[in-house]
Amino acid sequence: KARKSLNGFTGPSKIEDSGRASVNVSKPLQIQEQRSKLPIAKGKEALIREFRENDVTVLLGETGSGKTTQVPQYLLESGLAGDGIIAVTQPRKVAATSLAARVATEQNVNLGSSVGYSVRFDERFSPETRIKYMTDGMIVRELMSDSLLSKYSVVIVDEAHERSLRTDLLIANLKTILRQRNNIQDVKGKGKVKGNASNPLKVIIMSATLDAEKFGLFFEGAKILYVQGRQHPVKIYHSSQGQVDYVDAAMRTFFQIHTDYPPGDVLIFLPGQEDIESLEKTIQIYSNQLPHDHMLVLTCPMYASQAAGQNSKVFHPTPPNTRKCILATNIAETSITIPGVKYVIDTGKCKEKRYLARNTGGGFDTLLIRDITQSSAMQRAGRAGREGAGHCFRLYTEDAFKAMALSAEPEIMRCSLSSSLLQLKCLGQDLETLDLMDQPADESMKSSLIVLFLLGALDREKEITSVGRQMAAFPLEPVYSRAVIASTEYGCTQEVLDIVSVLSASSKLFVESSEQRDAVSEARQKFRHVCGDHLTILNVVKAYQEIAQSESKSGRKEWCRRHFLNERALLEANDIRDQLRQTCQRLGIDHRVSCGEKDDPVIQSLGHGLALNMALLQPDGFYKQAIGQSVVKIHPSSTLCDKKTPAIIYDELVYTNQIYARGVSKIPKSFILTFGTLKLQS
Ligand code: ADP
Ligand code: MG
Repeated sequence: KARKSLNGFTGPSKIEDSGRASVNVSKPLQIQEQRSKLPIAKGKEALIREFRENDVTVLLGETGSGKTTQVPQYLLESGLAGDGIIAVTQPRKVAATSLAARVATEQNVNLGSSVGYSVRFDERFSPETRIKYMTDGMIVRELMSDSLLSKYSVVIVDEAHERSLRTDLLIANLKTILRQRNNIQDVKGKGKVKGNASNPLKVIIMSATLDAEKFGLFFEGAKILYVQGRQHPVKIYHSSQGQVDYVDAAMRTFFQIHTDYPPGDVLIFLPGQEDIESLEKTIQIYSNQLPHDHMLVLTCPMYASQAAGQNSKVFHPTPPNTRKCILATNIAETSITIPGVKYVIDTGKCKEKRYLARNTGGGFDTLLIRDITQSSAMQRAGRAGREGAGHCFRLYTEDAFKAMALSAEPEIMRCSLSSSLLQLKCLGQDLETLDLMDQPADESMKSSLIVLFLLGALDREKEITSVGRQMAAFPLEPVYSRAVIASTEYGCTQEVLDIVSVLSASSKLFVESSEQRDAVSEARQKFRHVCGDHLTILNVVKAYQEIAQSESKSGRKEWCRRHFLNERALLEANDIRDQLRQTCQRLGIDHRVSCGEKDDPVIQSLGHGLALNMALLQPDGFYKQAIGQSVVKIHPSSTLCDKKTPAIIYDELVYTNQIYARGVSKIPKSFILTFGTLKLQS
């Protein structure tokens, strides 16, 4: 049945049709009934049989078929996991926490008991935990204390198609671990022979969209299985012209759907949190102006840095006479399935981490907004057809779709490798010799070696130093773990931990508001430190700690609101600091040592870590990286007063139309001299 076509769209140009009739589930099913209705449930017995017989299985199945939530439960319920833990890895934090919560509900247990999770700076599990959802980064970190992952009887590598850096490192290690734990030997004439193993490991690679052959070959004879999905037809419309402002285009498309199309929730794919927040605001404002007889709009944002549980409302049934509008990053592409979606708006954009390499070691990771791949576009469209026929509105032309890359490049080919290389060095491994699915570029390996050498984590022979080992013990970027270790020399560990904790939180400390710019700058003035952003942060932390002693919970909240501070960042930083203190304790570092009101020790400690992030003022008034060639500008948001100070250190470079240094402090000249000798040595 043809519907009124949307302004500015051509199409439908393509129809995906599985030939199935649409089924509409009218009343909410009980949890166990929901489980048994999932597409994967039909194959349960067959799957268990295959898992029993094969050490390595590659499982492919449409998003939403039940892989991530059901497979671990099947393994547990069938006793296949023995006494060991089942690890399920995810590239993203939110996916790990929200899926763990779901599976705990399905198992009818409290989260943290038999079903738990572990992500950076946040974990909920206990000795009785049998199913553990974790980020790939966390399990790679566990390799350092248990190189055979002997606690785990099954490791499920989920979302393997994303090929995140940590997933690739995990996969490489799993291959060696399998050999050792399953006692596999090469016997002449017989090929691979399995001996007796006391603690065998099973590996399951899962994805909705994967080059299964490649994984099969890598694991030499892995069994490849497919789960029948449930995909209803989705009509795809392309925009007739390219869109300059995709946020605005998404907003207009949403309201056209809202006014012209029957009930059904809308899922909008956007590149990041900023766009999500701004579009959410606009949609709320306009939907409040709609006539009273109109359906209501309920907006639900969903992105990676949300706190655990913060996005649970997307899973609640849509209230009557309401249309849910979910604004998500590519987290909703394959990791998390949201029920009720009938319409998808695809901006065609995503954020991607990319290392802008400089062979001198001055390269940097930056998040760039870029076009998605064809594979992502197909996945996004597919989200509209899970419960019935749906519609997908692409805010780009059909030609633009055809011009997209087929699938994404593995992260290992495009990201900074220093932190991973340091972890590998602790394991006695090396990027150059590890059996990886894809080898990183020579240039980026060289640059990560230089970084670690300059930080003092590796010596001339590329061997890990004792400082390097200490650094690797902290769940921090190498620059910050180096600063923490330097703080023990300068007697300011307390202060450095305060700062580094805030910098490692996923939410931003300062709330920006373009409408109240003057009020914001006045409130900020109170904390502003002449040396710049790091000590400004320290001032905020100290002030908050003081307030926390006298004020009630609501008083603290109000104080943060008045000062345009994001309390969530401060609370998160408190948790992070607790964890960093524990690491200090393990390493025999006294985390209570404080330098009182002195500034220099703090800056110098930070300088040791950020030595690579140093820029010097040039005669022409611009800053240039001390290592590396880039000309950088101080970010307008910086609290550094003297914008012509001879030398600065910075947390990161952000690349828009120019390269900006963000999180800037001035650094004394005397320190540059010490650093100069360091440079000469290299
Ligand atoms: P797959 O891994 O194959 O993509 P999942 O196991 O993630 O599939 O999803 C199976 C089902 O579980 C989906 O219908 C999804 O909507 C549902 N689900 C997942 N998480 C939650 C949650 N937190 N609340 C309610 N339903 C959920
Ligand atoms: Mg999944």
